[in-house]
Amino acid sequence: VVQYKAGSWLGAKVAGRPYRIDAVAGVSLELPAGKTYGLVGESGSGKTTLGRAIVGLVPLTSGIVRIDGADAQGYGDGPWRLIRRDVALIFQDPVAAMNPRMTVETLITEPLAIHRAERFDRRQEARQLLDMVGLPANFLDRYPHELSGGQARRIAVARALALRPKLIIADEPTAGLDVSVQGDILNLLSDLQDELGMSYLIITHNLAVARHVTDYVGIMYLGRLVETGATADVFKAPSHPYTKALLAAHTAEPGHAAAPIRGEIPSLWHRPTGCEFHSRCPAAQPICSTQTPQAAEVAPDHHASCHFAVAYHAAEA
Ligand code: SF4
Repeated sequence: VVQYKAGSWLGAKVAGRPYRIDAVAGVSLELPAGKTYGLVGESGSGKTTLGRAIVGLVPLTSGIVRIDGADAQGYGDGPWRLIRRDVALIFQDPVAAMNPRMTVETLITEPLAIHRAERFDRRQEARQLLDMVGLPANFLDRYPHELSGGQARRIAVARALALRPKLIIADEPTAGLDVSVQGDILNLLSDLQDELGMSYLIITHNLAVARHVTDYVGIMYLGRLVETGATADVFKAPSHPYTKALLAAHTAEPGHAAAPIRGEIPSLWHRPTGCEFHSRCPAAQPICSTQTPQAAEVAPDHHASCHFAVAYHAAEA
């Protein structure tokens, strides 16, 4: 079981003075072993920050990450060392995250070199990892610039598997890939999960990906989860206007243009009062700009933070 609670923050300097922005706040999610959780939202919604906070790359001002009893919180590498053995993060742009001077062999076995105390046969481990992601051994001596987008994604998955983690966080795992290659990567992730039983946290703005590969989904807006539940339930009866708007923007009828969500996601520096979606919500009422909605359970384990979530769910279900 993976649990993540509360907030993480991003620092910034304005006119030379450090400021703190709560990029993610009040988030609590629990991910059962062997399951896939999708974090969905527009860019700027806090998905990537949350993913990075779970491996300690963004400091937590409060809250805790717990994986099978090992937990970490706060700052510094020390508390996160155990978590990083159990959690691997696949970055959105895998080539940019690779050291261009390292061969594939070194790249994918680097986590073993860092975390494994006993000696190991690097070449042998690397061959086995490549085999797991469907690449032949002749990739071992290649460099990142010699990889296609799909191959780089497979190498990133191989590196993530090196320590046999309990959780893999994949940030936009199909971004920038051709549709057929997207399907290959998603199938690879699914096959590996069947074989090894790890959990996934998939960060995506792509609702088709979320619908296809996740068991649970959390819809993020301005650093908060506004709707959570089993994926099938949320897609069948979306109960928050933001979720509905995301779905409408992605599922236009043939011959009709998709309707973009009106307005822009507000700045973290100027969070709206009341419901933070009210400035863009087509269903906003006077109460929405003054009172913050609490998460309502609209169905078993299906929650939405909207004053009218129960009525919306009843209308959709
Ligand atoms: Fe829209 Fe109001 Fe619900 Fe917020 S609380 S999502 S503004 S209807």
